[in-house]
Amino acid sequence: MTKHKCFISFKTEDIEYKKYIQNNLDIDYIDKSLNVPIHSEDEDYIMQKIREDYLKDSTITIHLIGECSSEDNKLQNQYFIKKELQASLSNTVAGSRNGILGVVLPSMYDNIYKGSGICTKCDEKHKYVCINDETVIKEFSYNYYLPNPKSGCSWGYDDRYCVLTKWDDFIENPERYIDLAFDKRETDITKKIKVRP
Ligand SMILES: [Zn+2]
Repeated sequence: MTKHKCFISFKTEDIEYKKYIQNNLDIDYIDKSLNVPIHSEDEDYIMQKIREDYLKDSTITIHLIGECSSEDNKLQNQYFIKKELQASLSNTVAGSRNGILGVVLPSMYDNIYKGSGICTKCDEKHKYVCINDETVIKEFSYNYYLPNPKSGCSWGYDDRYCVLTKWDDFIENPERYIDLAFDKRETDITKKIKVRP
């Protein structure tokens, strides 16, 4: 089977993880990062340009979630990772949208995975996964917790476009998570995607 080509979106602070992926995992990737702003008023053009010059024929964007990649982190300029995700989520004349695989880096485990508890609305057990402005950029959080999940009070796998995994699980079996993100591209949930939330 041919491998799905991946684009890796990451903050410079997390470059060691990107290098690990390149050097140790058997995946097909594009070794590029958006590093110059694209000056245009035309958002469609910007998306198309990023696809042509950076994302190319990738079908998956691996988004590394570290301590410097949140919406609320005002010390960080998130322009590049935001544009990379927006272009990944866009259908452009230069190519169609990528699947999005969020990989939570170890320093963020405790901030994102908060255990589980019994829901006061439905009495079922829910896992608490903090994907919000404190942990990720909106382009990821919005398309992870898409509005109006089927069950009402919690999000099932089918209610999310972005796929999420821990770094340790990812490196054990990268192909499995890449395939999951790839398959999302053809599902109904794509109708709910928002490129610039
Ligand atoms: Zn519930």
